[in-house]
Amino acid sequence: MLTETTSEKKSNVEQKRKIIKIGLCGNPNSGKTCIFNALTGSRQHVGNWAGVTVEQKEGKVNFGEYEIRVVDLPGTYSLTAYSIEEVVARDFIIKEKPDVIVNIIDSTNLERNLYLTTQLIELGAKTVIALNMHDEAEHKGISIDKKKLGQLLGMPIIPTVGNRGHGIRELLGEVVAIYEKKEPLVRDQQINYGHEVEEELQKIQTEINKDRGLLDGFSTRWLSVKLLERDDEIVKEIRSTFPNQDAILKQVEKSQTHIEIRLNDETEIIMADNRYGFIKGLLQEVYRHRNADRRTISDRIDKVMTNRFLGVPILFGLLWVMFQATFTVGSYPMEWIDGLVGMISSFFTNIIPEGLVRDLVVDGVISGVGGVLVYLPNILILFFFISLFEDTGYMARAAFIMDRVMHTIGLHGKSFIPMIMGFGCNAPAIMATRTLENKTDRMITILINPLISCSARLPVYVLLAGAFFEEKAGNVIFGIYVTGIVLAILVGQLFRKTIFKGEASPFVMELPPYRLPLLKSVLIHMWEKGSIFLEKIGGIILAASIVIWFISAFPRNVEYSKNYSERVASIETQYDSRMATLNNPEEIEIITAEKTSQIDTIQAQQENERISKSYAGRIGKFIEPVLRPLGFDWKAGIALITGIAAKEIVVSTFGVLYQTGVEENEKSDGLREAVKRNMTPLTSLAFMFFTLIYIPCLGTMGIMYRELGSARWTLFAVVYGISLAWIVAFIVYQGGLILGFKG
Ligand code: GDP
Ligand code: MG
Repeated sequence: MLTETTSEKKSNVEQKRKIIKIGLCGNPNSGKTCIFNALTGSRQHVGNWAGVTVEQKEGKVNFGEYEIRVVDLPGTYSLTAYSIEEVVARDFIIKEKPDVIVNIIDSTNLERNLYLTTQLIELGAKTVIALNMHDEAEHKGISIDKKKLGQLLGMPIIPTVGNRGHGIRELLGEVVAIYEKKEPLVRDQQINYGHEVEEELQKIQTEINKDRGLLDGFSTRWLSVKLLERDDEIVKEIRSTFPNQDAILKQVEKSQTHIEIRLNDETEIIMADNRYGFIKGLLQEVYRHRNADRRTISDRIDKVMTNRFLGVPILFGLLWVMFQATFTVGSYPMEWIDGLVGMISSFFTNIIPEGLVRDLVVDGVISGVGGVLVYLPNILILFFFISLFEDTGYMARAAFIMDRVMHTIGLHGKSFIPMIMGFGCNAPAIMATRTLENKTDRMITILINPLISCSARLPVYVLLAGAFFEEKAGNVIFGIYVTGIVLAILVGQLFRKTIFKGEASPFVMELPPYRLPLLKSVLIHMWEKGSIFLEKIGGIILAASIVIWFISAFPRNVEYSKNYSERVASIETQYDSRMATLNNPEEIEIITAEKTSQIDTIQAQQENERISKSYAGRIGKFIEPVLRPLGFDWKAGIALITGIAAKEIVVSTFGVLYQTGVEENEKSDGLREAVKRNMTPLTSLAFMFFTLIYIPCLGTMGIMYRELGSARWTLFAVVYGISLAWIVAFIVYQGGLILGFKG
């Protein structure tokens, strides 16, 4: 072991050599011993590691003003606790804290050798890579983009030929550069395990952090990863020293069960898969083999799916299928639910006597909540597809495919995953940006995320597109979603050029193997996400419906411009006197119907005037001037305001506002018809665009605030969103008018 004796220290002070401790780490047969010999020459010492019979070799070399002490670690493929060699190598890195690790890699077997590198990354070890057997790799026609590999790993790369001593001085040069913190490539890197595992890691970290004082410099993330992998040594470590051990280990068990149910495999295997996914992503970018034969099924699928030219069309094709299915398949169960809501509505209309209570239940709660509930099938179908993309491993490919496009806006393909997740819900999507280490990359990715249309906005599109564009509705909805992506990319580019100047930092995109998804786990994922929607219905949407009903129902006694009751009375007397002269029952029936319809019309007019003078009406009228140029009436304005709480509430608001004051015989036509009476195809289109862009919902704003760590940037997101929404809706509406569409 490299302990310094006092006499050594003194002589060092005399010689003024700085001591650098390094460890050589690599797979068996990667050429460690050769490099060790080339480094240290004859100045070696062979012994055993304390307590075990594994050979330990130490040596030193003077290099400029440095004395570099070298320890040859046992050859290992990994740093788990499965073998004594692994434990020795790992303990050395954790406990002796060498200044630099030299990771020796057999270039002819990059994929397997890099697995150990992923472990070093996780340990946060400052590492230089010796790309050994370089001669053989060249001989075999393997070419490796060393510059890019170094950037992606955040570690300098030195090609070496161990048995001939090539590259040794360069290696020592890098050791010194890293020690002196002068190597610009060095940065913290992370392996991303996919959000399901990441969420659980977060929970374990929270528990470990309660014992923060005990960590002694090594990261909670690493501990959590090891615990999830059931690493015995670390479990022992936790048991022996951490006061919070029970809570920690309990959380670990819970997380393991959670992951194993969700992903249907053992946690260790899932984590290893993700590490190989990381490596595969790396190799995809830096590794070329002259006569490579692609072997695995994953490779063959990828040859098509991530093809340079086919990748993007396939991605958008799949998204198109997703939105078409969401709309068309969803329309059948939607009608059943709609019918059910209608039945419930008439049931309550019949059993509750006329009055405020009935209005509250029927016009407020049932119209508001029922109006949104009908979109449950659409939302579940959307989530079904998103879960399918995630579970098959296609989501990771989407990021890979979009990488080139994203680079044109100065972002990385990794920023695209939160964008696709945003189709579901922006809140978890924004949390998923945590995998981006670079602060400005992350800020931009967060700020553009609300432009990705979430499932809560889907009901608005399904309602309006369904009402106005009939069989083209699926395409219109797809168009809106694509507009969201395009806007996000453009706005991201603008931010990159103005507020957040700089380059995207290099990243490895994990390419986990394709998996045949289990229907059960896809359905579980779908349901998990979809149930958030149901919770919202029972919570905020219900509350908002009541509030909206209240502000539209009160005040009760408004000053009417006309005396409606007098008119009703006069119609009644008029008809009554007419009917007195009739005795044919058929005629009486016709005239009675005519009378009721006239009275209905007048009462509806009265209700319309009342609602326009209600609190909602007053607020709506107040903001109407701003919305007029976009073709929106005050009711649409109210819907947009209430939609800030949650976007589904836009539909609830339509349900309440567009259906009160509707003549009784038209009420049964449903919301679609009610909307048709209040909007045109053009205004509905402008309205859909406005809904797409204008503001993140309250929940998302909360998450943004937390993740951005700044109220000002959150406010910025809101302000730019509203401004952009107004501009886009203005262009759509006014442009449509110019083209001769009806406003
Ligand atoms: P260790 O198990 O990691 O200590 O590996 P060794 O240093 O014992 O090397 C394993 C074998 O690879 C030996 O036969 C070395 O001569 C050979 N070797 C090491 N480095 C290189 C290299 O860069 N190129 C070639 N062609 N052979 C190498
Ligand atoms: Mg050896």
